[in-house]
Amino acid sequence: INPVHIIGAGLAGSEAAWQVAEAGVPVILHEMRPHRMTAAHQTSGCAELVCSNSFRSDDHLGNAVGLLHEEMRRNGSVIMGMGHLFRLPAGGALAVDREAFSEAVTTMLSQHPNITIEYGEVQGLPPAEWGNSIIATGPLTSDALANAILAETDVDSLAFFDAIAPIIYKDSIDFDKAWFQSRYDKKGPGGDGADYINCPLDKDQYLAFIDALIEAEQTEFKEFEKDTPYFESCLPIEVMASRGPETLRYGPMKPVGLTNPHNPTVKAYAIAQLRQDNGLGTLYNMVGFQTKMKYGSQADVIRMIPGLEKAVFARLGGIHRNTFINSPKLLDGQLRLKSRPDLRFAGQIMGVEGYVESAALGLIAGRMAAAQAKGETVSAPPVTTALGALVEHVTGGFMSGPKAKFQPMNVNFGLFPPIDPPTYRRADGSRIRGKEKTRLKRRVMAERALTDLKAWSA
Ligand code: FAD
Repeated sequence: INPVHIIGAGLAGSEAAWQVAEAGVPVILHEMRPHRMTAAHQTSGCAELVCSNSFRSDDHLGNAVGLLHEEMRRNGSVIMGMGHLFRLPAGGALAVDREAFSEAVTTMLSQHPNITIEYGEVQGLPPAEWGNSIIATGPLTSDALANAILAETDVDSLAFFDAIAPIIYKDSIDFDKAWFQSRYDKKGPGGDGADYINCPLDKDQYLAFIDALIEAEQTEFKEFEKDTPYFESCLPIEVMASRGPETLRYGPMKPVGLTNPHNPTVKAYAIAQLRQDNGLGTLYNMVGFQTKMKYGSQADVIRMIPGLEKAVFARLGGIHRNTFINSPKLLDGQLRLKSRPDLRFAGQIMGVEGYVESAALGLIAGRMAAAQAKGETVSAPPVTTALGALVEHVTGGFMSGPKAKFQPMNVNFGLFPPIDPPTYRRADGSRIRGKEKTRLKRRVMAERALTDLKAWSA
């Protein structure tokens, strides 16, 4: 069997290599460190955690990333296996001893009889003679390779700069205050003139919100990010606010073309809008609210907006350098580049965020590449599973239409198909509401995921 070439021994590449090797297929794993370092990595170890040492919640029945942990464990993940072995006390989260973890993954890979690690930068796309290859070079892909990917795809398909607005679960928005309406009831393609969720602010609320924005703590840019310019079209909201208190009222928060059905005679002083973010309509992103406020203050400031007092965030906003391809446009269902079907992608470069999500896509890409090497095919896991929901996110789960913009995501329950509302009733027929309903909904989704995953694994 010809070897599978994997570029990048980060979270995704390490997991992919393990999966391919465990399937009995030889692997050549290419890693540029230590010859060429990235701006964030400190060591030459495989699966180095560049920032926090947390894999986040390990609650597999109450949290989407915890469910992803469990699904990966059940599929023989080396990242989850070593994470478990070197876990540190961290309440319900899975935190790991980062050095011991990375050393263990490096040992597991380098001692595997099917894996050869070659150190050196791959400066272009894998040559055709390598055949079956996986690019897993992450958010800090070296410039030479990033340029080669850009040349193979197109200018719109590789972002070097990531400005992200917060994303909120629709069912946490208070519709006694908020309402659906497009400005001037304008109908977009496939829309009905009510595509946006609107949250109204009166003058006092608006001015208090602006003050809070300006005073909120902001994340510092890393040294290597300081040279990255802001694009005028995606200025952080707090930078806009600092240009004058009225700036937002004439920008993303302009109160024109909208009538509040809860209070039709009073004109709002400013309006925050949210736009549907996923095909299922469970997630909404805040239009124009890209921000580099620190996570804690960000949630507090946004919850000052009427209708969002109890907002639950699927993702908070942020700005940092990132390299990711427009996967839904460029990849097929087997995670292969449509224009070069010998090339698969894995990890954060496909448009997911986080250590665990990146490793998860490494697991799937590895399984698919191994099957291909053996002349077989493995389908993606069902979309009802955390693994499948992530694959769906990167291969087509985003909204279509001219305004659709593919954005990186952490795994979250908004990416899963909803479950039937009748589940929210007790045996006596009474309705289950609030936090109890959320907990129940997540549990039912997680149980459905593990059942469906079992069938897929079989
Ligand atoms: P990586 O883990 O980055 O692995 C990519 C590998 O490819 C690297 O080893 C790199 O050296 C190698 N490589 C690159 N180009 C080449 C080439 N041309 N030839 C050969 N090898 C190459 N996620 C979290 O979950 N929590 C955090 O706290 C967090 N903090 C972050 C902070 C920063 C500054 C950055 C940039 C990212 C952060 N992330 C965080 C995201 C994190 O980087 C990813 O979640 C995860 O590491 C991505 O896994 P990956 O395998 O896709 O990429």
